[in-house]
Amino acid sequence: MIRENCGIVGIYNVKDVPKILYFSLFSLQHRGQESCGIIFSDFKNTYIYKGMGLVNDVFSKFDFEKYKNFGFGIGHVRYSTTGSPDIKNIQPFIVEYKGEKYGIAHNGTLVNSYTLREELESQGTLFQTTLDTEIIIHLIFRSKKESFIDKLIEALKKVKGAYSLLIFSPDGIYAIKDPNGFRPLCLGKFENGYVVASENCAFDLIGANYIREIEEGEILHIGENGLKSYYLQKNKISRCIFEFIYFARPDSKIFGESVYKARKKLGENLARELQFKADLVIPIPDSGNIAAIGLAEKLKIPFEMGFIRNHYVGRTFIMPFQTSREIGVKVKLNPVKEVIKDKCIIVVEDSIVRGTTSTLRINELRKAGARNVYMVVSSPPIKYPCFYGIDFPTKNELIASGKTIKEIKKIIGLDGLHYLSLKGMLSSMDLPDDEFCTACFTGQYPVEISDFKGKEQFEK
Ligand code: AMP
Repeated sequence: MIRENCGIVGIYNVKDVPKILYFSLFSLQHRGQESCGIIFSDFKNTYIYKGMGLVNDVFSKFDFEKYKNFGFGIGHVRYSTTGSPDIKNIQPFIVEYKGEKYGIAHNGTLVNSYTLREELESQGTLFQTTLDTEIIIHLIFRSKKESFIDKLIEALKKVKGAYSLLIFSPDGIYAIKDPNGFRPLCLGKFENGYVVASENCAFDLIGANYIREIEEGEILHIGENGLKSYYLQKNKISRCIFEFIYFARPDSKIFGESVYKARKKLGENLARELQFKADLVIPIPDSGNIAAIGLAEKLKIPFEMGFIRNHYVGRTFIMPFQTSREIGVKVKLNPVKEVIKDKCIIVVEDSIVRGTTSTLRINELRKAGARNVYMVVSSPPIKYPCFYGIDFPTKNELIASGKTIKEIKKIIGLDGLHYLSLKGMLSSMDLPDDEFCTACFTGQYPVEISDFKGKEQFEK
């Protein structure tokens, strides 16, 4: 089972704080559907609200009318990459220190959390959750430094891996990106306030304007005196390219670049590499849509919606058990026989992970009467697991690890299969090639994986 990573949002000096956080989390729902939560302040009191499930459901009983003042806060939507789906693991994670409440919301995965946690436990630290995120909070408050910012910097120097973080503190919020800049995080502005979010699709709904991406290694404090940045020592920039391929919403800008434009270019570059001739190009909705438009346009082949999606089913990988996922695949997409029958089809998929959903979908196309089915994938074969926040399965479960394209083609039941080349993928992006993390395709991990012991490493 593969799972999404998380989405985070923070706002400062805004009216109707919980309402604005709610709308923002709603826009970021695609980044995590397991649980969500907020912590916010009206500059006097602090409030917390959390629950398991979708944003809409969790907040259905929340009394927004009660909290209409100006204030600030942070929010989180979660799908577990470390720590099990459990009430105690809902973020933001909250602690109290010297009578004040602090909260932390994390997108990413730390790679040295096992060692850090062992160290902290041996010093008597008691953990409440199985989140790697909790480690950061303990490190902050164990620091002997005077000011909060110095404590924070000292703590962050000890953690390694991927983290886009938001910290709620009595004097405002801190927006932080790790020195490699694995996960997106951007800044926006209201008339008198600010917003920080994983993706700027959240800004449109709440009426904020995009300003910029948070820099690699930047700690941005948003408080009474406006914005102030501090910097950790930079590392090799390693933006997650998979955010462009699959995770982010196409109406977002991530790392300063449009996801829609990048996906369309992936499709155009695929067209340059293709040998197949076909009657139709169809996407696997929704993740294949934009690449398919780019491909069809370049190949001058008609684009059709050969699958119709049932919008009331979540992303299939959200379902926590194998059985529900398989049912989910069938429930979610239905082929349009009138489009498919007797046609030679190019199906566009953004990625193949285990190959199980793809196999089921291709089978559906055959049953709908397709004459030939070619699959083109707008990314290279995924051969290696991700340790930086994307919940891919282990190496053995990745279909492209240890199998040739010919073997994969046979397993999925295709007449042809083409994966976009690494070069084709990288040249679809405006950002420099060597500033991306491509570890899931190449096995070159930009930050050493010292002690990651799997998603359930803290469960036993
Ligand atoms: P499969 O054929 O089982 O490998 O599933 C491929 C489908 O999974 C594609 O439609 C992808 O969009 C989707 N996918 C890609 N990455 C992920 C991920 N990390 N979690 C869940 N689904 C993913």
